[in-house]
Amino acid sequence: MTRRFTIAIPSKGRLREPSWSLLEASGLAPEEPGERVLITHCRNADIDILFVRADDVPEYVQDGVVDCGITGLDLVAERRSAVDVLLELGFGSCSLQAAVPNEDSATTLADLSGRRIATSHPYLAATALAKSGVTAEFIPVSGSVEIAPRLQLAEAIVDLVSTGSTLRSNGLRTLGVLFESQAVLIGRSGQATNEARSTLTTVLGSVVNARANRYLLCNVPAEKLDEMIALLPTKGSPSVMPLAANGTVAVHALVPAVAIWSLLPQLEALGASSILTLPVERMVP
Ligand code: AMP
Repeated sequence: MTRRFTIAIPSKGRLREPSWSLLEASGLAPEEPGERVLITHCRNADIDILFVRADDVPEYVQDGVVDCGITGLDLVAERRSAVDVLLELGFGSCSLQAAVPNEDSATTLADLSGRRIATSHPYLAATALAKSGVTAEFIPVSGSVEIAPRLQLAEAIVDLVSTGSTLRSNGLRTLGVLFESQAVLIGRSGQATNEARSTLTTVLGSVVNARANRYLLCNVPAEKLDEMIALLPTKGSPSVMPLAANGTVAVHALVPAVAIWSLLPQLEALGASSILTLPVERMVP
Protein backbone atom coordinates (compact mmCIF):
# COMPACT_ATOMS: atom_id res chain seq x y z
CA MET A 1 0.00 0.00 0.00
CA THR A 2 1.43 3.44 -0.82
CA ARG A 3 1.02 6.13 1.78
CA ARG A 4 0.92 9.87 1.38
CA PHE A 5 3.98 12.01 1.98
CA THR A 6 4.19 12.15 5.77
CA ILE A 7 5.95 14.51 8.13
CA ALA A 8 6.43 13.70 11.84
CA ILE A 9 6.24 16.54 14.34
CA PRO A 10 6.60 16.51 18.14
CA SER A 11 3.39 15.47 19.88
CA LYS A 12 4.25 17.35 23.08
CA GLY A 13 6.96 19.38 24.75
CA ARG A 14 8.51 22.67 23.80
CA LEU A 15 8.88 21.94 20.07
CA ARG A 16 5.23 21.01 19.47
CA GLU A 17 3.62 24.46 19.32
CA PRO A 18 6.30 26.20 17.19
CA SER A 19 6.39 23.22 14.79
CA TRP A 20 2.64 23.40 14.35
CA SER A 21 2.63 27.16 13.90
CA LEU A 22 5.38 26.87 11.24
CA LEU A 23 3.21 24.42 9.27
CA GLU A 24 0.26 26.81 9.64
CA ALA A 25 2.32 29.85 8.59
CA SER A 26 3.58 27.94 5.55
CA GLY A 27 0.07 27.77 4.14
CA LEU A 28 -0.22 23.97 4.25
CA ALA A 29 -3.45 24.42 6.21
CA PRO A 30 -2.94 21.50 8.58
CA GLU A 31 -6.26 20.15 9.86
CA GLU A 32 -6.54 20.71 13.64
CA PRO A 33 -6.24 17.22 15.17
CA GLY A 34 -8.82 16.07 17.70
CA GLU A 35 -7.65 15.17 21.18
CA ARG A 36 -5.46 12.05 21.27
CA VAL A 37 -5.43 11.93 17.45
CA LEU A 38 -1.99 10.90 16.23
CA ILE A 39 -2.31 11.71 12.56
CA THR A 40 -3.91 14.52 10.64
CA HIS A 41 -3.66 15.86 7.09
CA CYS A 42 -3.18 19.15 5.27
CA ARG A 43 -5.99 20.77 3.34
CA ASN A 44 -3.69 22.51 0.85
CA ALA A 45 -1.23 19.72 0.11
CA ASP A 46 -1.15 15.97 -0.16
CA ILE A 47 0.71 15.67 3.14
CA ASP A 48 -0.11 13.79 6.35
CA ILE A 49 1.21 14.91 9.74
CA LEU A 50 2.08 12.32 12.36
CA PHE A 51 2.50 13.31 16.02
CA VAL A 52 5.30 11.45 17.82
CA ARG A 53 7.71 12.25 20.65
CA ALA A 54 10.52 14.62 19.60
CA ASP A 55 12.96 11.88 20.71
CA ASP A 56 11.43 9.39 18.29
CA VAL A 57 11.37 11.63 15.21
CA PRO A 58 14.97 10.87 14.07
CA GLU A 59 14.33 7.13 14.09
CA TYR A 60 10.97 7.38 12.33
CA VAL A 61 12.65 9.37 9.57
CA GLN A 62 15.71 7.13 9.38
CA ASP A 63 13.57 3.99 9.12
CA GLY A 64 11.29 5.49 6.46
CA VAL A 65 8.16 5.32 8.63
CA VAL A 66 7.77 8.98 7.61
CA ASP A 67 9.45 11.05 4.88
CA CYS A 68 10.41 14.12 6.90
CA GLY A 69 10.33 15.25 10.50
CA ILE A 70 10.82 18.22 12.80
CA THR A 71 12.94 17.71 15.91
CA GLY A 72 15.95 19.10 17.79
CA LEU A 73 19.37 18.86 16.13
CA ASP A 74 20.70 17.59 19.49
CA LEU A 75 18.43 14.54 19.25
CA VAL A 76 19.52 13.80 15.68
CA ALA A 77 23.18 14.05 16.67
CA GLU A 78 22.76 12.09 19.91
CA ARG A 79 21.11 9.19 18.10
CA ARG A 80 23.60 9.37 15.23
CA SER A 81 20.62 8.99 12.93
CA ALA A 82 21.34 8.50 9.25
CA VAL A 83 19.11 11.33 8.03
CA ASP A 84 19.57 14.49 5.98
CA VAL A 85 19.29 17.80 7.84
CA LEU A 86 17.30 19.86 5.33
CA LEU A 87 16.66 23.12 7.12
CA GLU A 88 17.35 24.98 10.36
CA LEU A 89 14.01 26.26 11.60
CA GLY A 90 15.03 29.18 13.82
CA PHE A 91 13.24 28.03 17.00
CA GLY A 92 14.05 25.61 19.84
CA SER A 93 17.50 27.16 20.13
CA CYS A 94 19.54 25.85 23.04
CA SER A 95 23.01 24.59 23.81
CA LEU A 96 24.35 21.50 25.50
CA GLN A 97 26.44 22.74 28.41
CA ALA A 98 28.55 21.14 31.10
CA ALA A 99 27.82 22.46 34.58
CA VAL A 100 28.84 21.87 38.19
CA PRO A 101 27.44 22.99 41.57
CA ASN A 102 28.45 26.59 42.43
CA GLU A 103 30.72 25.40 45.26
CA ASP A 104 32.65 22.92 43.05
CA SER A 105 36.32 23.66 42.41
CA ALA A 106 36.12 23.01 38.63
CA THR A 107 36.59 26.06 36.41
CA THR A 108 37.19 24.53 32.96
CA LEU A 109 35.93 21.54 31.00
CA ALA A 110 39.31 19.86 31.54
CA ASP A 111 38.55 19.78 35.28
CA LEU A 112 35.79 17.23 34.58
CA SER A 113 38.29 14.41 33.97
CA GLY A 114 37.47 11.34 36.01
CA ARG A 115 34.16 12.85 37.26
CA ARG A 116 30.70 11.26 37.21
CA ILE A 117 28.51 13.26 34.82
CA ALA A 118 24.73 12.87 34.55
CA THR A 119 23.27 13.56 31.12
CA SER A 120 20.50 12.65 28.73
CA HIS A 121 23.02 13.14 25.87
CA PRO A 122 25.82 10.68 26.77
CA TYR A 123 27.13 10.28 23.21
CA LEU A 124 27.33 14.03 22.47
CA ALA A 125 28.75 14.75 25.92
CA ALA A 126 31.46 12.07 25.65
CA THR A 127 32.42 13.07 22.11
CA ALA A 128 32.61 16.79 22.84
CA LEU A 129 34.46 16.36 26.12
CA ALA A 130 36.93 13.94 24.50
CA LYS A 131 37.96 16.86 22.27
CA SER A 132 39.05 18.67 25.44
CA GLY A 133 40.96 15.54 26.49
CA VAL A 134 38.35 14.66 29.12
CA THR A 135 37.39 11.08 29.89
CA ALA A 136 34.65 10.76 32.46
CA GLU A 137 31.95 8.38 33.65
CA PHE A 138 28.58 9.21 32.10
CA ILE A 139 25.39 8.44 34.00
CA PRO A 140 22.48 8.37 31.54
CA VAL A 141 19.31 10.01 32.87
CA SER A 142 16.25 10.89 30.84
CA GLY A 143 14.91 13.97 32.65
CA SER A 144 15.52 16.48 35.47
CA VAL A 145 19.25 16.19 34.84
CA GLU A 146 19.99 19.32 36.89
CA ILE A 147 18.93 17.63 40.12
CA ALA A 148 21.51 14.82 39.80
CA PRO A 149 24.33 16.55 41.77
CA ARG A 150 21.98 17.30 44.68
CA LEU A 151 20.94 13.62 44.73
CA GLN A 152 24.65 12.72 44.66
CA LEU A 153 24.02 10.70 41.54
CA ALA A 154 26.78 12.66 39.80
CA GLU A 155 29.24 15.50 40.45
CA ALA A 156 28.51 17.36 37.23
CA ILE A 157 25.89 17.45 34.50
CA VAL A 158 25.71 17.95 30.76
CA ASP A 159 22.31 19.36 29.87
CA LEU A 160 20.43 21.55 27.40
CA VAL A 161 20.33 25.21 28.36
CA SER A 162 18.44 28.05 26.73
CA THR A 163 18.31 30.96 29.19
CA GLY A 164 20.42 29.47 31.98
CA SER A 165 17.73 30.14 34.61
CA THR A 166 17.19 26.42 35.36
CA LEU A 167 20.92 26.02 36.00
CA ARG A 168 20.97 29.07 38.26
CA SER A 169 17.91 28.09 40.23
CA ASN A 170 19.48 24.68 40.92
CA GLY A 171 22.72 26.20 42.21
CA LEU A 172 24.74 25.19 39.14
CA ARG A 173 27.19 27.14 37.00
CA THR A 174 28.28 26.41 33.44
CA LEU A 175 31.78 25.35 32.45
CA GLY A 176 31.18 25.70 28.72
CA VAL A 177 29.13 24.88 25.67
CA LEU A 178 29.53 21.46 24.03
CA PHE A 179 26.96 21.61 21.22
CA GLU A 180 24.61 24.21 19.71
CA SER A 181 21.13 23.06 18.77
CA GLN A 182 17.89 24.31 17.27
CA ALA A 183 14.85 22.71 15.67
CA VAL A 184 15.55 21.26 12.23
CA LEU A 185 13.64 19.70 9.35
CA ILE A 186 15.12 16.30 8.58
CA GLY A 187 14.50 13.90 5.72
CA ARG A 188 15.29 10.29 4.86
CA SER A 189 18.72 9.92 3.36
CA GLY A 190 18.80 8.92 -0.30
CA GLN A 191 15.59 10.85 -1.06
CA ALA A 192 17.15 14.09 -2.26
CA THR A 193 15.25 14.01 -5.55
CA ASN A 194 11.83 13.55 -3.95
CA GLU A 195 9.73 16.41 -5.32
CA ALA A 196 7.35 16.71 -2.35
CA ARG A 197 10.33 16.92 -0.01
CA SER A 198 11.99 19.68 -2.09
CA THR A 199 8.73 21.62 -2.18
CA LEU A 200 8.24 21.27 1.58
CA THR A 201 11.82 22.41 2.23
CA THR A 202 11.44 25.46 -0.03
CA VAL A 203 8.07 26.43 1.44
CA LEU A 204 9.12 26.04 5.10
CA GLY A 205 12.42 27.75 4.29
CA SER A 206 10.58 30.73 2.81
CA VAL A 207 8.76 31.24 6.13
CA VAL A 208 11.88 30.72 8.25
CA ASN A 209 13.78 33.28 6.13
CA ALA A 210 10.88 35.72 6.20
CA ARG A 211 10.62 35.57 9.98
CA ALA A 212 14.29 36.44 10.31
CA ASN A 213 13.99 39.58 8.16
CA ARG A 214 12.11 42.89 7.95
CA TYR A 215 11.30 44.99 4.92
CA LEU A 216 12.76 48.44 5.51
CA LEU A 217 11.53 51.56 3.70
CA CYS A 218 12.83 55.05 4.25
CA ASN A 219 13.54 58.33 2.54
CA VAL A 220 17.06 59.67 2.55
CA PRO A 221 18.78 62.82 1.23
CA ALA A 222 20.38 61.86 -2.12
CA GLU A 223 23.82 63.01 -1.00
CA LYS A 224 23.66 60.57 1.94
CA LEU A 225 22.70 57.57 -0.20
CA ASP A 226 26.15 55.97 -0.39
CA GLU A 227 26.66 56.30 3.36
CA MET A 228 23.25 54.80 3.98
CA ILE A 229 23.84 51.85 1.66
CA ALA A 230 27.12 51.17 3.43
CA LEU A 231 25.19 51.00 6.72
CA LEU A 232 22.62 48.45 5.57
CA PRO A 233 23.34 44.86 6.65
CA THR A 234 21.59 43.66 3.49
CA LYS A 235 22.77 40.75 1.36
CA GLY A 236 21.27 41.86 -1.95
CA SER A 237 21.32 45.31 -3.49
CA PRO A 238 18.67 47.69 -2.04
CA SER A 239 16.12 49.33 -4.37
CA VAL A 240 16.56 53.07 -4.76
CA MET A 241 13.74 55.18 -6.19
CA PRO A 242 13.60 58.90 -6.96
CA LEU A 243 10.90 60.87 -5.12
CA ALA A 244 8.85 63.80 -6.44
CA ALA A 245 10.63 66.03 -3.91
CA ASN A 246 14.01 66.93 -5.37
CA GLY A 247 17.16 65.70 -3.67
CA THR A 248 15.50 62.85 -1.75
CA VAL A 249 15.36 59.16 -2.65
CA ALA A 250 13.41 56.25 -1.23
CA VAL A 251 15.35 53.15 -0.23
CA HIS A 252 13.78 49.71 0.16
CA ALA A 253 15.79 46.81 1.55
CA LEU A 254 15.46 43.52 3.40
CA VAL A 255 17.36 43.62 6.67
CA PRO A 256 17.87 40.99 9.37
CA ALA A 257 15.30 41.48 12.15
CA VAL A 258 18.06 41.39 14.77
CA ALA A 259 19.79 44.39 13.13
CA ILE A 260 16.78 46.74 13.32
CA TRP A 261 17.46 47.75 16.91
CA SER A 262 20.88 49.20 16.18
CA LEU A 263 20.10 50.35 12.64
CA LEU A 264 17.20 52.75 13.34
CA PRO A 265 19.15 55.36 15.33
CA GLN A 266 21.95 55.27 12.75
CA LEU A 267 19.47 55.90 9.93
CA GLU A 268 17.94 58.80 11.83
CA ALA A 269 21.38 60.25 12.44
CA LEU A 270 22.01 60.15 8.67
CA GLY A 271 18.88 62.22 8.08
CA ALA A 272 16.58 59.38 6.96
CA SER A 273 12.86 60.03 7.41
CA SER A 274 9.56 58.15 7.05
CA ILE A 275 11.31 55.01 8.25
CA LEU A 276 9.02 51.98 8.14
CA THR A 277 9.76 48.33 8.88
CA LEU A 278 7.27 45.68 7.80
CA PRO A 279 7.06 41.98 8.56
CA VAL A 280 7.72 39.69 5.60
CA GLU A 281 5.46 36.72 4.92
CA ARG A 282 7.65 34.72 2.52
CA MET A 283 11.20 35.05 1.33
CA VAL A 284 12.94 32.84 -1.20
CA PRO A 285 16.45 34.20 -1.66
P1 AMP B 1 10.87 18.40 24.96
O1 AMP B 1 11.70 17.63 25.95
O2 AMP B 1 9.92 17.52 24.22
O3 AMP B 1 10.25 19.64 25.51
O4 AMP B 1 11.86 18.91 23.80
C1 AMP B 1 13.18 18.76 23.92
C2 AMP B 1 13.87 19.45 22.78
O5 AMP B 1 13.60 20.84 22.80
C3 AMP B 1 15.35 19.29 22.97
O6 AMP B 1 15.82 18.10 22.40
C4 AMP B 1 15.89 20.53 22.31
O7 AMP B 1 16.09 20.29 20.93
C5 AMP B 1 14.78 21.56 22.49
N1 AMP B 1 15.07 22.54 23.55
C6 AMP B 1 15.14 23.87 23.37
N2 AMP B 1 15.44 24.50 24.52
C7 AMP B 1 15.56 23.57 25.45
C8 AMP B 1 15.86 23.60 26.87
N3 AMP B 1 16.10 24.73 27.51
N4 AMP B 1 15.87 22.44 27.53
C9 AMP B 1 15.59 21.29 26.89
N5 AMP B 1 15.31 21.20 25.58
C10 AMP B 1 15.30 22.32 24.85
